[in-house]
Amino acid sequence: MSSSTPSSAAPVTRVVSFEEARHLVEQHAAGVRPGDVETLDLLSAFGRVLAEEIVADRDFPPFARATRDGYAVRAADVAQVPARLEVVGEVKAGDWPEPEVCSVGRGQAVGIMTGAPLPAGADAVVMVEYTAAVGKSVEIQRSVQPGENFVPRGAEARAGQRLLDRGRRLDHAGIALAASAGKSRVQIFRKPRVAVLSTGDEVVEIDAAPGPAEIRNSNSYSLAAQVQNAGAEPVRLKIAPDERERLRALIEEGLGCDLLLLTGGVSMGKYDLVEQVLAELKAEFYFTGAEIQPGRPIVFGSCGAGIPARVRASNPPSARAGMPAPHKKYFFGLPGNPVSTMVTFELFARPMIEALAGMTPHPLIFLRARLKSEIRTKTGLKRFLPAVLSGEFENAEVELAKWQGSGDIATLARANCYVVIPPDRKRIDAGEWVPLLLMR
Ligand code: AMP
Ligand code: MG
Repeated sequence: MSSSTPSSAAPVTRVVSFEEARHLVEQHAAGVRPGDVETLDLLSAFGRVLAEEIVADRDFPPFARATRDGYAVRAADVAQVPARLEVVGEVKAGDWPEPEVCSVGRGQAVGIMTGAPLPAGADAVVMVEYTAAVGKSVEIQRSVQPGENFVPRGAEARAGQRLLDRGRRLDHAGIALAASAGKSRVQIFRKPRVAVLSTGDEVVEIDAAPGPAEIRNSNSYSLAAQVQNAGAEPVRLKIAPDERERLRALIEEGLGCDLLLLTGGVSMGKYDLVEQVLAELKAEFYFTGAEIQPGRPIVFGSCGAGIPARVRASNPPSARAGMPAPHKKYFFGLPGNPVSTMVTFELFARPMIEALAGMTPHPLIFLRARLKSEIRTKTGLKRFLPAVLSGEFENAEVELAKWQGSGDIATLARANCYVVIPPDRKRIDAGEWVPLLLMR
């Protein structure tokens, strides 16, 4: 049995709505600063956050670019069809049509391939499908408007124009754009380090043989995976028992990272000591609960002046040239139930990690799908219930997974989204469009 004695250092309780909780996190996230900058090869920067803006080094496209195979013409010459034009040349992709050598005069056409520059004099391209070669001429069977089937020079971006913002996480499209601007190396932000601290006397390491009442520490692993997925580096700490001194030591260790995520020990139980220990460390609490299910006991706060000197020392101001050291370390106390841990990470911890990683945090947007079978629930809390999105193409349907509550990881692993149920709904009929949060 535990010998811990509950203390009176508990923080003031502040339970807020889901929306308020999310906005509070976003407001704090807006004030954090990303870490140092490093330079990486473009492909190594995939999934990382740009610390520089990417600018067009020339016009995009750099020349008026044909978007079809066919003939470059003067639109006025083919206003009446069929029209017979004299073919005076050909440009393929990679050719440069010098105007003295290759241009389109009245009654003339130049064969052109997709990706080739439009020759001088032409103002449209007729697709090859609407033409017939006749000796050194071509018969045009369909009219075109000026501007058809080519992209004017600089229409996508002008030289010097910003293509990608600083703070953008590089996905494949961003990589393509940086590549097309010749950025073989890019400046990116260092990944923030996020401490993951599981608490509970019953929690044991996953390679230990659990006793009859012991539970393997799955939360540190799911959280570490989510942290990585959000663009940060997880630092898994040792498991904290429900005992004040050891818990405090591990919390202090975690505060040496850029962010601390705790799981467990935030409920109303006698041995839920996380908030008390944080309060002893002079933490400021922004909320100590949100009106959601699962995840109601979620805690968000920061340790500032209360960060012990030895923690501050492990994080020297010199790490950030010319900038003051961040005096504030944020933490989230996530409920220990594995599904609650995962949901509350996505809803609240992710935007803070994105901000620490240098990103402009993404707004949380729920998609919608048609409900496959009726839902009955209780009012009062906003619910995020594991569900399965199925169907194909435009016909997505969603159905709640039959779960055993917020400890049921087996069901969660079969789900692929959460259906979002507003706090005022008791019953939702089959066929109704319901909001959902996709799992990442
Ligand atoms: P708590 O939030 O500490 O009251 O824990 C709620 C439930 O989550 C209990 O059933 C715990 O055993 C379980 N739990 C807590 N921490 C973990 C963990 N790290 N991994 C798996 N389950 C956990
Ligand atoms: Mg516990």
